[in-house]
Amino acid sequence: MKTAVWWIRRDLRLRDNQALAAAINAAAQVLPLFIIDPFFENSAYVGEKRYAFLWAGLRQLDADLHLRGSQLIVRYGRPQQILSKIMAESSAEAIFAEEDFTGYARRRDAQIGESLPLTLTPGIVVHPPGTVLKQNDDPYIVFTPFKKKAWLARPLPQASDILPAPDRINSPKAIQSDDLPTKPELPAEMPFEPGETEAQRRLQTFAQATIDRYAAERNIVSVDGTSQLSPYLRFGMLSARQAVVTAVSCLQNAPTKEARKGADTWLSELIWREFYVHILHHFPHVLQRSFRAEYDHIVWRNEEDEFVAWCNGRTGYPLVDAAMRQLTSSGWMHNRARMVVASFLVKDLLIDWRWGEKFFMQHLVDGDPAANNGGWQWTAGTGTDAAPYFRIFNPTSQAIKFDPSGEYIRRWLPELADVPNDYIHEPWKMPPLVQKGANCQIGSDYPQPIVDHHEARDWTLAAYKHAREADLWQDA
Ligand code: FAD
Repeated sequence: MKTAVWWIRRDLRLRDNQALAAAINAAAQVLPLFIIDPFFENSAYVGEKRYAFLWAGLRQLDADLHLRGSQLIVRYGRPQQILSKIMAESSAEAIFAEEDFTGYARRRDAQIGESLPLTLTPGIVVHPPGTVLKQNDDPYIVFTPFKKKAWLARPLPQASDILPAPDRINSPKAIQSDDLPTKPELPAEMPFEPGETEAQRRLQTFAQATIDRYAAERNIVSVDGTSQLSPYLRFGMLSARQAVVTAVSCLQNAPTKEARKGADTWLSELIWREFYVHILHHFPHVLQRSFRAEYDHIVWRNEEDEFVAWCNGRTGYPLVDAAMRQLTSSGWMHNRARMVVASFLVKDLLIDWRWGEKFFMQHLVDGDPAANNGGWQWTAGTGTDAAPYFRIFNPTSQAIKFDPSGEYIRRWLPELADVPNDYIHEPWKMPPLVQKGANCQIGSDYPQPIVDHHEARDWTLAAYKHAREADLWQDA
């Protein structure tokens, strides 16, 4: 075959790319194509920070392709039309792409596959949906057996499976490309340099040191104790397979018990990522409704003012507010903080988890429908293997436990910078003189708590109980 299209979607990398490798094996020339699909432009679930990261990542990929004698072709429009057109222009005979599992991706690819020669390859996850099933072929809905009985029981990838980046990619000449958008630009506060090289650097740094302490430090919000690789995994600047191979190698070579626990825990997190991809594939309704139907009966309070306060980091609870400011300015948030702010929105404010899910998708650079929906439904208690409905994080004790000296809070809430340690987790308790000394007037410089946590807990428990009863009555 003379020419094949490598249709790039969520696999912005040259290393360990099974779609690219298949295209190179099949044809003498490979045409790397990215399609800017208007479907995403019009979605309420995308945001500027993720777009900025994607555009910059594509620019980096184009630079990497140039070093290999190729270049990225960008086209704007509906994928089916663009692919037909580009195949005619380049006389390409095949299209290779990495399989994606969201409802939209599956519908789009199925439709395209009816009229064009599209081949899908694995890559987004190590074990694709359909390969990790119970003995009766049902999907798992609980994480531990998914992981232990099925995912880990399948052959694990080896270092020798990782495909090297090709030295050279022959591509057809004179294929016109649209320009990549120059806006939005990467915000200065975003701590992620896009691209494959940076992903590799982070993986190596993490594997050499941080992973050994991961189990102990991954919950401390002020410490960079996690890999911060989520944006790179989200856009495939790093393959899931390489991440898993690294985790397993760290596990096998761990020098201490603590290091072994660190690598084991990190591997589990990578498997959580896969678990949610499987859940979304088998239960696509989770993007619209609760996984557990009984919780579709919850009567939410949905107070708009309180939602705005949450979005702006003005709830009066310092850990919640610091985390929301981290999200809106940097595009990322620590996992522990994600759980705390999600729990606060759903279980203290009794606001529909879908409001928070959407806001996260609009701001997260790693925003991913499967992981984000999984995280929200887990916290809300409405999902698979979720936190029980009565587990309601106390935002103050979470702060005392996971940001004991208030370092994270002070980093993101400058108005609390001078608040003494004794009050940093409950600034509303500061006597007037202390407020004066700390340059922080509660009620003007920093808000009073917008709800009382203990009262909120009671109304939430009542709302969840009511929903469960309503479900029973419906069934009766
Ligand atoms: P590490 O701790 O280093 O973990 C390594 C990788 O494992 C991560 O990069 C990520 O790809 C995966 N991972 C880790 N924890 C989880 C998890 N609980 N679920 C699924 N995958 C996980 N993660 C996203 O990638 N995108 C999202 O949109 C997203 N939204 C979330 C929303 C809520 C409400 C919650 C509670 C969690 C969400 N997560 C999401 C999961 C998790 O918070 C992030 O993956 C993690 O904070 C990323 O940081 P890291 O790369 O340092 O993770």
